[in-house]
Amino acid sequence: MTNEEAVDILVVDDLPEKLLVIETILEGLGQNIVTARSGREALRYLLDREFAVILLDVNMPDMDGLETAAMIRQRRQTSRTPIIFITAFGDDAHSAQGYSLGAVDYIYSPVVPEILRTKVGVFVDLFKKTLQVRRQAEERVALAREQAARAAAEEATRRSAFLAEASKVLAKSLDYDATLRGVARLLVPELGDFAAVTIVDDRSGSWDNLVVLKDPIDGSRKKFHPSRAELDPALCETIRRVLETGEPEHVAPARGMGPWAQATVLPLEARGRVMGTLALAGGPAGPRPGTDDLALARDLAGRAAIAIDNARLYHDIQEDDRRKNEFLAMLAHELRNPLAPIRNAVEILQHLGLKDGDLGWASDVISRQVEQMVRLVDDLLDISRITGGKVQLRKEPIDVASVVSRAVETSRPLIEARGHRLAVELPREPLWVVGDRTRLSQVLANVLNNAAKYTADGGEIALSVGREAEEAVFRVRDTGVGIPPEMLSRVFDLFTQVDRSLDRSEGGLGIGLTLVHRLMEMHGGRVEARSEGPGRGSEFILRLPAASANGQHREGPKAPAAAGDAAADRRASCRILIVDDNQDSARTLERLLRISGHEVHTAPDGPAALGLMDSIRPDLVLLDIGLPGMDGYEVARRIRERPDGARILLVALTGYG
Ligand code: ADP
Repeated sequence: MTNEEAVDILVVDDLPEKLLVIETILEGLGQNIVTARSGREALRYLLDREFAVILLDVNMPDMDGLETAAMIRQRRQTSRTPIIFITAFGDDAHSAQGYSLGAVDYIYSPVVPEILRTKVGVFVDLFKKTLQVRRQAEERVALAREQAARAAAEEATRRSAFLAEASKVLAKSLDYDATLRGVARLLVPELGDFAAVTIVDDRSGSWDNLVVLKDPIDGSRKKFHPSRAELDPALCETIRRVLETGEPEHVAPARGMGPWAQATVLPLEARGRVMGTLALAGGPAGPRPGTDDLALARDLAGRAAIAIDNARLYHDIQEDDRRKNEFLAMLAHELRNPLAPIRNAVEILQHLGLKDGDLGWASDVISRQVEQMVRLVDDLLDISRITGGKVQLRKEPIDVASVVSRAVETSRPLIEARGHRLAVELPREPLWVVGDRTRLSQVLANVLNNAAKYTADGGEIALSVGREAEEAVFRVRDTGVGIPPEMLSRVFDLFTQVDRSLDRSEGGLGIGLTLVHRLMEMHGGRVEARSEGPGRGSEFILRLPAASANGQHREGPKAPAAAGDAAADRRASCRILIVDDNQDSARTLERLLRISGHEVHTAPDGPAALGLMDSIRPDLVLLDIGLPGMDGYEVARRIRERPDGARILLVALTGYG
C-alpha cells in the first residue's frame, strides 16, 4: 500500500445529522468514511473489513457505545482497533468506563473539527504504517518461500540429473571391473568424500573391497583395494551385519577413517539377495541420516547392485562359454588323434580284404563309419576354432564351378547311398567369387549333405548356381522333411536340431549349419533357409559377393595337372622316416606306406629321429608336431641345418587341424 491509498474509518451514531457533520469534517483527510446507525450495524461491518479507527457515539438507544465497544474488543480481529468515543461534555463516569474498555481517546460533542481531524489523522497514519510493515513482512516470507522452492527444484533437478548420469555410466559396460570403477566415480565426490564398495564372492564368501576417497589434504581422488583385515574394524563389523540383515546402518569408525566421524552402510541388493554393501562418509554432501542425500544414495545403491549383478552374470556366462569352447576344442583334438591310426588300419584291412569277401565288407563298414566320425570331429574342431577366432581364410579368386565340383565330390557318396537324384545347374558364363576354396566347398558340401540326410531315400536334390545382381547365388533344394516356419532362422544356431526325437541315425551334432553361417559371414556373404513347412522340402540359399572375372586372377589350368604330375613322380619307391610318439599311428602308417612299396622307418621322438638321419638318409620325413620334449618344429629346424637338409621333403602331422 502506498500512503496515498485510502483506508476505512467507521463512524457510528444513531443520529443522521451528527453522522453527516462528522463525515463532512473528516472528508478533508481523503479517506473512506463508513457510517453505521447502530452498534449492531457497526459490528456487521467489522466482520469483513479492517478499519483504521472507529468513532463511536456513547449514547445510542438499544445497544449503547460502551456495549458495542465491549463486543468489539472481544473479537480477536478487532481487539486492537483504536476506538474514539464521542460523548457529551463532562460525562466523566462514562469516560472512565470507556477507557477500561480500551478506548484510546474521547472527543466531546459538539466536536471541534480541527481536533477531530487531527486525532483521527494520527490513527490513520499509524494504521497505514502498520499495514506497510505487515505487507513488507509478508513479502519477505513470500520471497523466502520462493527461494526455498527454487532451491528445492534445483536440488531435485540435480538429483535426477545425477541419477540419469548414474544410469548411463552403469549401463555403459558389462565388464565387472569397469562397472565397479563407474560406481566408485559416481560416489566420490558426488555423494561423499569416502566410499567403500564390498562385493561378496558367491562361492568362497570372500570380500572384494574397493575404497575411493577424496584426499583431505590435496583433494585428489584415491582408489585402493584393501583386504578385509585392512578395513576399519567397526566399519568391517557393520558391513558384516548389513550383509546379514539387509538393513542400512550408521557406524562411527573405531580407529577413525581420516576425518570422517560417521559412515552409512547400505546393502547392495539384486535378485532378492544381498550381494554386497556400499559405505559412504564425509563431505558436505555426505549422506546424513534422514536426508534426501541418503535417499539418493539408496537409489544409487539399488541401481549399482543391478549393474554389478548383470556384469557378474555376464562374466559367468562368458567364462562358462569359454570353458565349454576349450572343452570342445580339447575333445575334438583327443577324438581326432585315434582316428588317424584307425583310418590307416582300415586301409591296410581293405588291402588285405581284396582277396577275402567278408574281410573286405567288414573293413568297408569300418571305413564308412570312421569317415562319418572324422566328419563330425572335424566339424567340432572347426566350430571351436571359428568361435575362438582361430580360423583364417586363404582368400583367392575362384570360379564357382570349382567349388561346386569339390562339394559334389564330397557329398556324392552320401547322396548315392541314399539313392537320391542330384541335378546340378551351373551358370553359362564363368562366375567368380573371392574366397577360401576349401572352406566354400566345405560349406556347400555341408548343405548338400543335409539335403541328402533330411530327405527320404530316393529323393530329388537340385543344386543351381547363378548370378543375381552383384551376387553369386547357390541354391540347394530338396524334396525332404522340410522345416517348420518357426525353426527356419534357428537352424543356424549352434547345437540346434529341429527334431531331437529322431532316431538319430544321421548322427549329427547340430553344428554343420552354424559352421555354414559363420563361414559365409567371414566371406561377406549370407545364408538363408526356406521351406513351405514339414514334409514339403527345403531350400538353402547361399549368397556371396560376385567378383569381376579377372584374367590375372584366374587359376592357371595347368596348376592342378602339374601337381598331379609331381604326385605321379613321387609314386616311385622312396625312403620315409615317420616321427611320431603315438605308436599306433606310427606303426599303421608305416605298414600302409610299405604296402605302397616304400622303405619306411619310425622314430618315437626328435633325438631318435635325428640319430637315424645318417643311416637312413630319408627322402621324406613325416613329422608329428606335438612330440614330447623336442617338438616337431625344432626337429624340422635341425634337419634343415644338415648338409642334405634342403633336399628332404618334410611333412607335418598334427591333430590340431
Ligand atoms: P545336424 O545335421 O548335425 O543336426 P546342422 O546344423 O547341419 O546339424 O542342421 C541343424 C538342423 O537343421 C538339423 O538337425 C535339421 O533338423 C535341420 N536341417 C538342416 N538341413 C535340413 C534340410 N535340408 N531339410 C530339413 N531339415 C534340415
